[in-house]
Amino acid sequence: MAHPRTEQTLVIVKPDGIQRALIGEIMKRYERIGLKLVGLKMLVPTEEMIERHYLLDPDWKKNVGEKAIASYIQKGEIPPSNDPIAVANSVVERLKEYMTSGPVIAMVWEGAHAVELVRKITGGTEPRSAGIGTIRGDFVLDSYSMSDSDNRAIRNLIHASGSVAEAQMEIPHWFTASEIVRYRVPHEATLYDQDIRSILS
Ligand code: ADP
Ligand code: MG
Repeated sequence: MAHPRTEQTLVIVKPDGIQRALIGEIMKRYERIGLKLVGLKMLVPTEEMIERHYLLDPDWKKNVGEKAIASYIQKGEIPPSNDPIAVANSVVERLKEYMTSGPVIAMVWEGAHAVELVRKITGGTEPRSAGIGTIRGDFVLDSYSMSDSDNRAIRNLIHASGSVAEAQMEIPHWFTASEIVRYRVPHEATLYDQDIRSILS
């Protein structure tokens, strides 16, 4: 089995993240925890790329719909629809508009627990309820209710793979194998080497 330090995850700084001048702030957060940037590009995605990206996981529609409905119920509000697939279909259309509205930055970050740690640092889907200290919680204020009433996608600055399986499907969708760079940085020895005695040698 591959060592955990080789786990990779996809991050996309969405168009609003670039408009808000948050590229450096976002990258800093993943870099400072010890993750390593191994892929990077800027592009304006096509609608087809976005649709395919979100439909890579066959369960995504059900999950995104259920999450939105649960958020309404938890706040004591009435969801716009009780059918998760209907909610998800409308989200896909709104995402195509949002994600093709300007340049994005796609990145691959590598390191132990990369998927889980990037999600933790990024915060929950809805900025309104995302935790304090997370990027979405600290830098933006959107909500399900506001994006629904304005008929648009939630603006939450970042995409981050939701699971290792999702990352493994998403990375090849955005990067060719030769665009992922293998290299070492010195602090990996401190993070991962079993033998730390070399400090005093
Ligand atoms: P995450 O990006 O946190 O993994 P999802 O995969 O569930 O979230 O959804 C993908 C993206 O679609 C979200 O980041 C957000 O921009 C948008 N989105 C999700 N649910 C809704 C919704 N109910 N209404 C509007 N936009 C949504
Ligand atoms: Mg997701």
